[in-house]
Amino acid sequence: MVLHLLTVLFALLVTSHAARSRGPDVYTLCKRGFSYTWDDGPWTMHEEIVETFDTQGAKTSFYINGNNWSCIYDEENVQTLRTTFENGHQIASHTYLQWSHASLTELNDTQIDYEIKRLDEALIKILGIRPRFFRPPYGNFNQHIIDYIRGKHNKTIIMWSNDSGDATGGSARDSWNFYTRFAREEPDYTGLTLSHEVSDAGVEAMRNGTVQALVEAGVELLTTADCLGLEPYDYVGDYGERDETWNCDAEWTPSVSSR
Ligand SMILES: [Zn+2]
Repeated sequence: MVLHLLTVLFALLVTSHAARSRGPDVYTLCKRGFSYTWDDGPWTMHEEIVETFDTQGAKTSFYINGNNWSCIYDEENVQTLRTTFENGHQIASHTYLQWSHASLTELNDTQIDYEIKRLDEALIKILGIRPRFFRPPYGNFNQHIIDYIRGKHNKTIIMWSNDSGDATGGSARDSWNFYTRFAREEPDYTGLTLSHEVSDAGVEAMRNGTVQALVEAGVELLTTADCLGLEPYDYVGDYGERDETWNCDAEWTPSVSSR
């Protein structure tokens, strides 16, 4: 009985320590700076976004898909993503096939594994990285999904503090007003904002100077990892070389390199 009680106490101590050390379930806000993020690429406007942030000496983060608006293995995407990575912007996971389902809450664990591992494998091949950061499509999740993705896949779940609305009917002017308001009224706000690299409205607002307005207001634009003080990747190695598996149409089974 005493032994049993000690075992339970020990288990509780270990559990509470683990709960503390692994951080919150879901991050929605930065701890310092401001993270201006882009979902649903890579697509045709990706490179322009990187150039704009580079020009302003700012950093951004992309929560990408494997095969949504385009296949991640297309040579243009491979080259563009390598530039993004080399220029110090963050690459994070937003599932392999976002379009094929309404949300993770409608998938079973095997299907969730597919969504995460197939993109992880692509990023290990293309960039030599496995991302720690994951944003669920549509921001839909439940406690099981949080526990499963953190426990099995070692991902940190990132949402957002403020949505620019560029994927839900907002205009370029709306996105412009959204970002420049932080610059004018709340330059010290540690925002973690949502835009979409496949949204004409979100990209048009950027062309009209949202990044410059924030930088000129003294807002420090950081990757999500830097604004949270966390590591962006749990594996960093060399770039791979293209072979027949660099293909979104092929049959796929997990390789040993993915988690
Ligand atoms: Zn999305």
